[in-house]
Amino acid sequence: QAKAAQGCTWCFYDEQVSRSARSLADQEGELRRALRRGELELHYQPRLCLESGRIVGLEALVRWLHPERGLLGPDAFIPMAEESGLIVPLGYWVIARALRDLQSLHEGGADSLHMAINLSFRQFQDSQLLPTLNRLIEERGIDPHWLEFELTETAVMRRSEQVQSAMHALGELGVRFSLDDFGTGFSSFVHLSSLPITLLKIDKSFVAGMAVRPGKSQLVQAMVGLAHNLDLDVVAEGVETTEQLELLRQFGAQQVQGYLVSQPLPLAELLHFMSAERLAAGLAH
Ligand code: C2E
Ligand code: MG
Ligand code: MG
Ligand code: MG
Repeated sequence: QAKAAQGCTWCFYDEQVSRSARSLADQEGELRRALRRGELELHYQPRLCLESGRIVGLEALVRWLHPERGLLGPDAFIPMAEESGLIVPLGYWVIARALRDLQSLHEGGADSLHMAINLSFRQFQDSQLLPTLNRLIEERGIDPHWLEFELTETAVMRRSEQVQSAMHALGELGVRFSLDDFGTGFSSFVHLSSLPITLLKIDKSFVAGMAVRPGKSQLVQAMVGLAHNLDLDVVAEGVETTEQLELLRQFGAQQVQGYLVSQPLPLAELLHFMSAERLAAGLAH
């Protein structure tokens, strides 16, 4: 009887596993088709420089315009893409599209905009990263100094030799690196200082509580101080209120990003936003 029960448990388990495996395979197939059919899009979120009051950069954020499910955010498919390895071709698509759009923005007169692109750990393990990037930079005639790659703390803290050497090689080209979602992982500052990182992005979860809870805002102040001691600039993410912005300014953060400035926008809407912003800046002088 015990044996039968065991067998049964095993069958049940096996079925569960193959069912979820099947649906993962389905999801992968669907994402692969989406890439081929051009269902992915990039939205761009502006970054405001607090000193100049100007938009100095953009972050590229991927979306999937799913034929049935509508516009999907990255949280709905990036984890699956990372697990399956699809993040590699997806990531190349993102880089190519972001560089194409940066070229047209630069040519259109917004010629001192930086472009920040999120990179997953897996992308660094791909031997084609460096040659592909070199080719795209050449094709688009973009100075690599305008490019920034955002890496999460968890990716950086895996201390892979490959990641480290790829970062140094890209750094030689002039590409910048930022540490994304700072405060949510476990950074070793010794390790951090051995990497060519120049910017630290304070995670939005810290910014969210700032004006409401004094403890939170002290924490953010300490993070900004820490970044400056490490000679890193600070970008605060998820800034939604003027109170948050003013506190961040007091603390000495260099840049802010968040709904207060703008939501991530499709290129056409971003162009409107940028021309209105330039007009406003012109009028203010
Ligand atoms: P992230 O890089 O930390 O991006 C910031 C996220 O905060 C974005 O979510 C953005 O839309 C959202 N956000 C911006 N301002 C505000 C605000 O004021 N309030 C709030 N509550 N949220 C704000 P999104 O677009 O859903 O992206 C989620 C994550 O997906 C990103 O986090 C990034 O880690 C990942 N991701 C996005 N695009 C790519 C990509 O092309 N490649 C890779 N590997 N990951 C990506
Ligand atoms: Mg990011
Ligand atoms: Mg972040
Ligand atoms: Mg995040």
